[in-house]
This record gives sequence, C-alpha cells and structure tokens, in this order.
Amino acid sequence: MIDKLTLNSTLDREEFLNLISNITEDDKQYLFGQAMQARRRHYGNAVYLRGLIEFTNMCKRNCRYCGIRAANKNADRYRLSNDEILSCCENGYRLGFRTFVLQGGEDDYFTDDRLCGLVSEIKARYPDAAVTLSVGERPKNSYQRLFDAGADRYLLRHETASGRLYNQLHEEMSLSNRKQCLYDLKEIGYQVGAGFMVGLPGQTDEDLVEDLVFLKELSPHMVGIGPFIPQKDTPLANEKSGTAEKTVLLLAVIRLLLPNVLLPATTALGTITPKGREMGLMAGANVLMPNLSPVSVRKKYSLYDGKICTGEEAAECLNCISLRIKSCGLSPDMSRGDFKI
Ligand code: SF4
Repeated sequence: MIDKLTLNSTLDREEFLNLISNITEDDKQYLFGQAMQARRRHYGNAVYLRGLIEFTNMCKRNCRYCGIRAANKNADRYRLSNDEILSCCENGYRLGFRTFVLQGGEDDYFTDDRLCGLVSEIKARYPDAAVTLSVGERPKNSYQRLFDAGADRYLLRHETASGRLYNQLHEEMSLSNRKQCLYDLKEIGYQVGAGFMVGLPGQTDEDLVEDLVFLKELSPHMVGIGPFIPQKDTPLANEKSGTAEKTVLLLAVIRLLLPNVLLPATTALGTITPKGREMGLMAGANVLMPNLSPVSVRKKYSLYDGKICTGEEAAECLNCISLRIKSCGLSPDMSRGDFKI
C-alpha cells in the first residue's frame, strides 16, 4: 500500500483507512523513509524557515477549540500597530528571513485598506521577501485586493473536512464556504495552504480520510497539520489532546500524497512532545516557522495551552530551530522557499 501511494500519489478511501488505522511499526518506518526520499527529490535537504508575526489576537469567530475565540473573556487582547509589525519585519529581514507570515484572528479592524497598505509597505521595503497572510475567511474581492497589493501566499486551514465534525466545532461557519475560500485563493493565484487538526474530540479515522481526499482534490501548495491541544478557557478544555504519533503518520502520508508540498513541522507538534518538530522532519516535513512577534505579546496568542517558544527573542528562536534542523541531518534555508512545480 505504501509503495502504491508512493507510485500513484493517491489511494482510494478504503486503502487510506487501512493505512492509517492498521499500520505496523515496521511499515511506519518504511513509510517515513519513503516520505523523506520524496522530500529529497523535490527539495533536497532544505528546510525553509518562515518568520511568523502574530499581529492580532482579536477575533470575531467562536471556533470551539480556540483560545482566542470571541467568547473567551479571559484572553488578554492585543493588536500590533503598523510600526510594530514593520519593526518585526525589519528584525526578521536582518536575521535573514525572506518570508513573513502575518497571522491573526478575524479582526474587522484590519479592513482591506489597512491590510493592503501594510502588505504593500512590506513589499516596498523588502521586495525580495514573500508575504504570507493568514487572516481567515474574507470575500473573494478582498483576497484579490490583497493579492494585488503584493501578498504571495495565504494560509487557511480547513480544520476538518468532515461536515459533521466541522459543524460541531464552528458556530455560524460552514465547511462549504471554507472550501470555497480555498478555491478562490487558488484561482486568484496565491500559493495556498490548507490543513487540519489531528485528534479532535469525536474525530474518527474515517474523518481523517476525508481530510486526505479533500487535500488531494484541492492540491494546495502548503499543508499545515498539528495535534489538537485543549485550551483551558474553551468549551473543549477537558478533552484529550491528539498525539504526535498520529500527526507524524499523517505528515508522511501527506508527503507522498502531494510530493512537492511545503509541509511545516508545527509548533503544536513541538508542544505536544519535546522532539515533535524533529519527528515531523523525519517524516517528510520541510518548513519551520520561528516566531518574530514581540516577546511581550507571545503568551497572549494562546490558541492552545502550553505553547512553546513564547519566551525567546527571534534570534534565539532561530538559533534553536536551526540546531534542531541540523540534528536531523537537514539544512536550514532562509530563502523565499517557493513551491516547486
Ligand atoms: S481558530 Fe481562527 S477564526 Fe477560529 S476563533 Fe481562533 S482565531 Fe478566530
């Protein structure tokens, strides 16, 4: 089955289910080896570093798993000014970053005019850097304006492709609209990132198969997945976390499903277990996202409990992450790291 996936870059639903539900330890090691070879074929030993700027934790939505959901009165809210965001970019550029990822909640303060102004200012100052946005669902014409202002990439996790689970987790949101946003972004010309959570309360392996089938259909340029981790002020506070083991298994499957995809080993994976990001790299991941946000706000961007890397300055973060990459026999790469066709 692993060879079939490697050869054809897909499986049918039943085969996916069998693979993720019944894989043996030996087969898992074989799968990881195949995933690493696929990564090497497309990207060599490079692991791309993206500078993450969490610029607002205001959000109008109420996703049940999220620590910065609107209903959480305990969240300590902040919004960085343009000058603060630009100074994060300046610091990041000096350290060598050539991708800035601007991530935030769905914060209506950031109108198209404000966000377009910010994106074009960053692109004017750093024309050789890529700008990635991750600011949720917006109308297609808004995505178009941001693209025209210079945004190169857009991250919008679909979170789960199971309609049942999606509806349980998201009030007043719909999976069909989420998917439509992703198709709109792709049509406009962004490099697009989708992704999902592993180990959500009530999630079955059949639900995860739906994620794999949807990813194949969408064929995004980037896929971000991480274990579900509960946050104490949310309705899911007492639920169990997802596991690193299942997450890395799915990372390896995704590497073979979309061999040239840009695939982060996420902070959530590093939070659930100390060597989580290394495990991700050894299963085919090829992106890491060190944090460039000011240390003073890091703890406030608390999507889930126990988040790592909230105390270090950007340079320390970069150093620590570079060492982790090298410990896996891979090399940190700070170039733009665009998707390779
Ligand atoms: S997951 Fe995103 S959209 Fe949902 S509440 Fe959190 S920040 Fe807002």
